[in-house]
Amino acid sequence: MIKHIRWPEGRDFAFTIFDDTDLATIENVAAVYDLLKDKEMLTTKSVWLLMGKQVPKVGGFTCENRDYLNWTQRLQEQGFEIGFHNATFHTSQRETTALGLEQFFGYYGHYPATMANHTGCQESIYWGSARLSGLNRLAYNLMTRFLKHKRFRGHVADSKLFWGDICREKIKYVRNFVFSDINTLKNCPYMPYHDPARPYVNYWYASSEGAEVNSFNHCLAERNQDRLEEEGGACIMYTHLACGFVENGRLNHRFRELIERLAKKNGWYVPVATLLDYLLDYNGHHEITSVERRKLERRWLKVKIKIGPS
Ligand SMILES: [Zn+2]
Repeated sequence: MIKHIRWPEGRDFAFTIFDDTDLATIENVAAVYDLLKDKEMLTTKSVWLLMGKQVPKVGGFTCENRDYLNWTQRLQEQGFEIGFHNATFHTSQRETTALGLEQFFGYYGHYPATMANHTGCQESIYWGSARLSGLNRLAYNLMTRFLKHKRFRGHVADSKLFWGDICREKIKYVRNFVFSDINTLKNCPYMPYHDPARPYVNYWYASSEGAEVNSFNHCLAERNQDRLEEEGGACIMYTHLACGFVENGRLNHRFRELIERLAKKNGWYVPVATLLDYLLDYNGHHEITSVERRKLERRWLKVKIKIGPS
């Protein structure tokens, strides 16, 4: 059963975005943020701190680009949240991850409240098969032919990639499961939750799938917006705002239309950490039980089989 949340300021539902920084430059995302600001929708933009030392599989600016750093700092001043997406776009050892977090502190005045693991970074925490437990882990390993088994080692204490203790000390919320439904909270009513089997993460949150502009628009379609509102739910869209939202300097028309429509509703449009802080305060600290975790994992595996989200 889903408990109905009473949202602040008499709002009917909550909506936000975690923007994965892959491929992002100023040119290909600034127009999106202009629209969001104009509509008073404050969301979360993640960053990479350090210029990588390897050729990126997935590129995009890092905070070592001065103009880009300044631009993200302006976003922060305007009320957007800056989140963490690993130190850079390739695997980092402990020292580099620690340095990245100190840089974050230096640039933004605090450690990141939210983060999401970046694909392929092997220091990612509880990632790959470590996202799941027991038989669900086995099912995942069979599905992925064991390619992601024990591949990610941010939480493995004897690894050079280990930074679990730093994560626990400095970061409050880490993303795990992504669902195709717009109402993230309906799919993961426990969030934010602590998982005693994954002690280096303080709290986990889930997201809704909209990796690029088409899947984002699909998830945010009119009927889904209306249902989110009716259900009084909460949506944390997980997306890459550099993927098709701006083309040739112009905002995707459908995206603009959907955001403008959503903005007219009585929603609570705040960054991911603000939303999660509210839920944590509202629901209290929750340790996920093995039954709840099993349910969540199974639900995610089903979506994974169907559409393969992150
Ligand atoms: Zn990424």
